[in-house]
This record gives sequence, structure tokens and C-alpha cells, in this order.
Amino acid sequence: MNDNLDNAEILLVEDDKISRKMVAYHLKKHGYTVYPVENGQAALDFLEEKIPNLIICDIMMPVMDGMELRKRLLNHPDLRLVPFIFLSAKADLQDKVEGWMMVVGDYMTKPVEPVELIARVKSVLARHSLYEEMINYDHLTGLMSRRNMEQKMTYELARIKRFGRDFSVVMLDIDHFKKLNDTHGHAFGDEVLKEVAQTLKDSIREVDFVGRMGGEEFVIAMPETDKETGFVIAERVRKSVAALEFKENVQVTISGGVSAAPEDGLAQADLLKVADDALYEAKNNGRNQIVAAKSKTS
Ligand code: GH3
Ligand code: MG
Ligand code: MG
Ligand code: MG
Repeated sequence: MNDNLDNAEILLVEDDKISRKMVAYHLKKHGYTVYPVENGQAALDFLEEKIPNLIICDIMMPVMDGMELRKRLLNHPDLRLVPFIFLSAKADLQDKVEGWMMVVGDYMTKPVEPVELIARVKSVLARHSLYEEMINYDHLTGLMSRRNMEQKMTYELARIKRFGRDFSVVMLDIDHFKKLNDTHGHAFGDEVLKEVAQTLKDSIREVDFVGRMGGEEFVIAMPETDKETGFVIAERVRKSVAALEFKENVQVTISGGVSAAPEDGLAQADLLKVADDALYEAKNNGRNQIVAAKSKTS
């Protein structure tokens, strides 16, 4: 998958050789990378290896037709989210209605004018990118969403496993946030969340990532960082938050727990759990402090 929409990767599923060549030609001319396959089954085989930015799919094909492929994709947890366009010779209203009912980005009929093909492709890609932004970023703070964090961590941890690198996770939670809301109002609570989020963003390196996991809970994930260093950074963040100035001298503090791969696990769920347990300890010890999880090995 390519993040840059201008050179998106497109899987083209079409049995007719001439149509396949024509469509591929115009897509490539616009900078897209095209992977042509001949039927639905060949598309499924391809998708096991690689997830493209968009699938353009004919309907009438041997072996597995486009409708069947679309059905299978909709039942697949990852592939159902890949933008999908039907491109078919079936041009009756009833055919189009059937196609639209398959939750598609668009339905084009053959032969398609090159300008129309490109315009519709661009439109579907742009719309999808808006959805992605909504899903992957927290609206209030602009931080990564929990979903985005979990995906990114899973991806990074696969690298750690391969190359045996360090990876540190810090889980942070604002202290007595409920009371803050109750005393100063929900709007003020929102302001605090935004300020704390900005402080977190300002405290990390380019390669680190930070997300809002829900409510007043945040996670910083740091590649190439061991637990001691993770702790030092978490301490720095804690002090920066404690130094923030709010109206009426309201003081905001956070508590945190630190875990690290490989010692505390290599799965994101395990690292989050260990960091959460350490956070719980920090809360019990009186809050406004960071606790590093004890290493099982030492
Ligand atoms: P502790 O120190 O143990 O973490 O206590 P706490 O009060 O911070 O924790 P608790 O989980 O009891 O309360 C969290 C509060 O966060 C409750 C909820 O209303 C508030 N909250 C969650 N999301 C938002 C939000 O988006 N905006 C605001 N203003 N408040 C939120
Ligand atoms: Mg066909
Ligand atoms: Mg809290
Ligand atoms: Mg909480």
C-alpha cells in the first residue's frame, strides 16, 4: 500500500485482455502502479501477498466473477476496507443497482473514457483518505487513535522481532481527571486534554508515536528505546505536564507506567498490559509519578 495517493497501487481484475491493457495503460500514464490479474481467484491470490490502495474489478469473468470476489472481500476483516470500483460491460440500470448494493466506491461501465476513469479513481481514493483520517486520528487532540496505535505498534514490533531491537511503551493517565471535570466543567477538561496532548507531541522524537487510547489515557511508543530511557522520557513528560499553567492555578498531573520489548513481551497487547499494571502501581503509590515495570529477568 502506498500512502501517496498520486502513485497509488491499483489491483486491476479483468479477464478481457484488450480492456485490461487499455485501462492499465491510462492508469499508469497517470502515475499509478497497476497490478493486472485475470479473474477473482487470481485477485484473492494476489491479495494474500499485498494490499493495494484500490481494486478495479470487472464483473463477468471465468473461474470467479466480480460479484463473488466482492462478496468474499466483504467477509474479510482487512480486505473489506480496501476501496473497490466495478468496471463492467453490464450497463443496465438493474446491473448497476446490483453493483451499488455491494458497498462499492463506484460503478463504471465499459468502454470508459480515460478522463472519466481517472476522475472516478481520484474521487474514490480521496474519499477513502478522508475516512482514514477520521478513523486514524483522535478528533479532539489530533493524536493517533487507539486503532492506529495498535496497528502501528504491531507493525513496528514485527520489525523488533526480526532485528532484535529495543522498543519502549509508556502509558499515561491524567490524575483525578473526573474531579477536574466536575469542578471546572467538561469544556475545561477538554482544554486540559488538548494541552496535555500537545505536551506529549512536543516531547517525542520524529520516530516515536503517541496516541489517545480513550478518555484521559495516552500511550507513547518509542522504537530503539530501552526501558531505562523510556522511563527518563516519561519522567520528562510528567514534569512538563506538571509545569503547565491553567486558569485559577489549577494543577494537572499525570501518572505513568513503562514497559519494554523484548523483556516484557513482543506483542502490543502484552506490552500495553505490563505498562498498564505499572501505571496502576503509580496510581496506588500516590500519583504524579512514573513506574517502570520490573523486569522478569532481573
Ligand atoms: P485516576 O487519578 O485514578 O486516573 O482518576 P480519574 O478521575 O482521572 O479517572 P476516572 O477513570 O475515574 O475518570 C476519567 C474521567 O475522564 C471520567 C470521564 O468523564 C472523563 N473523560 C473521558 N473522556 C473525556 C473527554 O473527552 N473530555 C472530558 N472533558 N472528559 C473526559
Ligand atoms: Mg469480463
Ligand atoms: Mg485518570
Ligand atoms: Mg483513566
